[in-house]
Amino acid sequence: MATTISLEHEINPWEAQSARFDFAARKLNLDPNIWKVLNSPSREIIVHFPVVMDDGRIELFTGYRVQHSIARGPGKGGIRYAPDVTLDEVRALASWMTWKCAVVNIPFGGAKGGVICNPKQMSQGELERMTRRYTSEIIEFIGPEKDVPAPDMNTNEQTMAWIMDTYSMHMGHTVTSVVTGKPLNIGGSRGRKEATGRGIKVICDQSLNYLHMPQQGCRVIVQGFGNVGSNAARLLHDAGYKVIGIAEYDGGLFNPAGIDIHQLLEFKDRNGSILGFPNAEAVPSDEVMVSECDILIPAATENVITSRNADRIQARIIVEGANGPTTAVADEILAEKRIFVMPDILANSGGVTASYFEWVQDRMGYFWREADVIERLENIMKDSFDDVVRYAEAHGVNNRIAAYMLAIDRVAFTIKQRGIYA
Ligand code: NAD
Repeated sequence: MATTISLEHEINPWEAQSARFDFAARKLNLDPNIWKVLNSPSREIIVHFPVVMDDGRIELFTGYRVQHSIARGPGKGGIRYAPDVTLDEVRALASWMTWKCAVVNIPFGGAKGGVICNPKQMSQGELERMTRRYTSEIIEFIGPEKDVPAPDMNTNEQTMAWIMDTYSMHMGHTVTSVVTGKPLNIGGSRGRKEATGRGIKVICDQSLNYLHMPQQGCRVIVQGFGNVGSNAARLLHDAGYKVIGIAEYDGGLFNPAGIDIHQLLEFKDRNGSILGFPNAEAVPSDEVMVSECDILIPAATENVITSRNADRIQARIIVEGANGPTTAVADEILAEKRIFVMPDILANSGGVTASYFEWVQDRMGYFWREADVIERLENIMKDSFDDVVRYAEAHGVNNRIAAYMLAIDRVAFTIKQRGIYA
């Protein structure tokens, strides 16, 4: 059955999340009434808005903001800019945020936003005008108590600063807590940038401990050397792990003796790419992904482990840095191979956890030391790891289904406790 499904269907993100949700909900024996509520997003906003481009033309853009659930708190989730953003994708990412925030037990619901655009072909001025107009189009629906956006693909600290400023202008006073992932100077949090990578390291440490495998010399392969992948690789390297392979979109690197990640970061800074790094062999990315290792960290993008390559993966552990890197069909293949998978909604939740800290600090107007952020982040990640593996053991399911069950259970309990407003 696994191989008869079309790849197009297999990689549809909404199908991917629905497959896991349905499976976990059935296992949980979820009340059919609550099932109905959680099966679809609670609000989907579609906006078409004009922006004056640098040459005087008016371009019409389409943007989305989807709030999947606000049962446990304000919506939380990034905004992405890309030419191929779809409503289905934003929906799936919004629901993943609901489950992710519930897994780490922080008081947020799930949301996500996106604008269909080609940011690489836009000037800073065009990006700023598009960001401000998109913000004003959805302004009724966002806010510190309603829905708190953050950066995602092709958006960054600067984008968040523009959103914060636009929102503040409408309110008539500065409201830093409307978005997270801001520059430090205007309400950002220390430790936020590398938080996802740091969370991944905690999950690697805990997984090795759980499986009684040694940390020193543990062989790691990382796909994607961007924010998440490079920070995870650096922190793992510094802790004595051996990062033997890096796979990027335009080529990979392999060195069985370990790659010096600090040297590679400097090289990439200088050259804009990891290609040509002298202290590792150039190997095609697809091959790096299926090379033998102890831990594989897909930290690039969605749908990179599918029915097409899952049977060739030779890792003992997979720690998902990216959102949705593994399809539901590939899950079955990895389970047959007895690979220990740490699912995205747990493994990459360090980012949203630090976002939660940023929102708390903004609302307190009191900013923490980096050491405090790190300590609190590590505690939440460790506790969440324990919750998920204990749940998996108790219910005889894999870690992904356990994480979904735990999250659905927490959200369902909250909805029941609050009751349905009529
Ligand atoms: P990024 O843009 O900084 O880095 C992504 C890297 O992956 C880039 O270097 C890019 O060249 C590479 N890449 C893209 N497609 C690839 C492919 N097919 N094969 C190999 N390499 C490829 O993005 P990021 O912030 O590091 O996010 C990476 C993933 O992690 C995304 O799925 C994102 O949604 C998820 N995520 C990010 C955060 C965060 O805090 N940044 C938090 C949670 C989840």
